[in-house]
Amino acid sequence: MTIESVIFDWGGTLTPWHDIDQREILRRVAAAHLDATRVEEVADALLAAEREVWRRCEEEHRSATFADVFALAGVEPSDALLAAWFEAWMPHTFTRPDVPDLLRRLREGGTKVGVLSNTYWSRAWHERIFARDGILDLIDGAVYTSEIPWTKPHPEAFRAVMAAVGVEDPRACVFVGDRPYDDVHGAKTVGMRAVLLPNSNVPGYDGAEPDAVIDRLADLLPLISDSDRGG
Ligand SMILES: [Mg+2]
Repeated sequence: MTIESVIFDWGGTLTPWHDIDQREILRRVAAAHLDATRVEEVADALLAAEREVWRRCEEEHRSATFADVFALAGVEPSDALLAAWFEAWMPHTFTRPDVPDLLRRLREGGTKVGVLSNTYWSRAWHERIFARDGILDLIDGAVYTSEIPWTKPHPEAFRAVMAAVGVEDPRACVFVGDRPYDDVHGAKTVGMRAVLLPNSNVPGYDGAEPDAVIDRLADLLPLISDSDRGG
């Protein structure tokens, strides 16, 4: 079967893997809080809230938004806090340098490019990052789970990105991600093919075998060509 779409996870897949000190990031966010005496308290509250939304994501496959994080933390959102959040994360958002060429070549071959990210960030933030790195126009459809009720590996998240790229048959989709459970198991469950780009510190999962494992995204294109030819 011809591959109609290649759909990518974002963090650790289109971006390099980074070990992130989330408490330190949130301390910098909290430093933008109006009350300078509450920095540590606000950072702890945001950290607890963030852990709770990721627990919901991992255990219940329920999505969240920034509004949920602030509500759980009991912290009033402000433009200053959000700007500090974006700024603190900035070093970890840069697209891998080989991605623009890969996406261009996929599209030149008639393959649609999709993105499906478990995220509570807004579409505007993700698109700002993709525009900065020159890949926004190379993406045919993207689903940010902050916009839908589910997260990967819930099948509805994968169906949402198929609708976004305009592909009806999951067998015509290849999903590329760094998480064996969310990405590989999720994609395989709906009938997609799945390619694992393994990263350190990502928990393993024995319940789903990837169709291929790659060390770098550049190894993806030959695989897609082979599977096209092989039918
Ligand atoms: Mg990832």
